[in-house]
Amino acid sequence: MFIISSKNLLLKAQREGYAVPAFNIHNLETLQVVVETASEMRAPLIVAGTPGTFVYAGTGNLLALANDMAHHYNHPLAVHLDHHEKLADIQHKVMAGVRSAMIDGSHLPFEENVALVKSVTDFCHRYDASVEAELGRLSGQEDDFIVESKNALYTHPAQASEFVARTGIDSLAVAIGTAHGLYRAQPKLDFERLAKIRAVVGVPLVLHGASGLPAGDIQKAIALGICKVNIATELKMAFSAELKRYFNEHPEASDPRHYMQPAKLAMKEVVRKAILHCGCEGKL
Ligand SMILES: [Zn+2]
Repeated sequence: MFIISSKNLLLKAQREGYAVPAFNIHNLETLQVVVETASEMRAPLIVAGTPGTFVYAGTGNLLALANDMAHHYNHPLAVHLDHHEKLADIQHKVMAGVRSAMIDGSHLPFEENVALVKSVTDFCHRYDASVEAELGRLSGQEDDFIVESKNALYTHPAQASEFVARTGIDSLAVAIGTAHGLYRAQPKLDFERLAKIRAVVGVPLVLHGASGLPAGDIQKAIALGICKVNIATELKMAFSAELKRYFNEHPEASDPRHYMQPAKLAMKEVVRKAILHCGCEGKL
């Protein structure tokens, strides 16, 4: 089996001071781009899908593709459930072969978040599947779920420490000023808060909403304990912008084997840069 958990990938990153990128994929082509690029750069890789992505592409289809590519490139892959909100949904996908999950109860009151996450870790750990959870909330849109900026709450260090101890999670997503989607203005990350969280939380920390963040911010966050960096929007933007450009120049195009190529190359450049920013080239 070449579909692995995220746990050891992230612990190694934590020990050696880099981050593993988690790229959101949607179909055959986007999966090919991230796996091929990570493989060429011998970089550890997490491929992520939201519930909407698994509905769109089919859990079995995505797992079959990922397993085959991992085998072909001799590159173990963590297929990760991004922003999943239901225990039953995660159970179903773990039974299908997934070994890495995020349970997002960040919209719930603290005690309900703890109870939901604990039920997921109790289940997942029996199958050697790793669990990420989030405390605090990011603004922006992930899938069909919109959080207004004014309701975004930053992660509280002492609460984070209690949350990790009571839930048994393997990694913690923190809210320190990043947002999902595209940034309208340059975000100002709360690095002081990140350092305080790191001082009291032992598990690897996760940064969501990294699309469009300056490389310096990503690298500073990694130096302060971030071990997984999520990239989604930037990949979609590069892929679709190039696809649109191609069709504008070649309105007669009808062969996906041709018109997908430039879009894949544009996305590949984003993946390559993210791997460099994460400092994980050659770390597989
Ligand atoms: Zn996210």
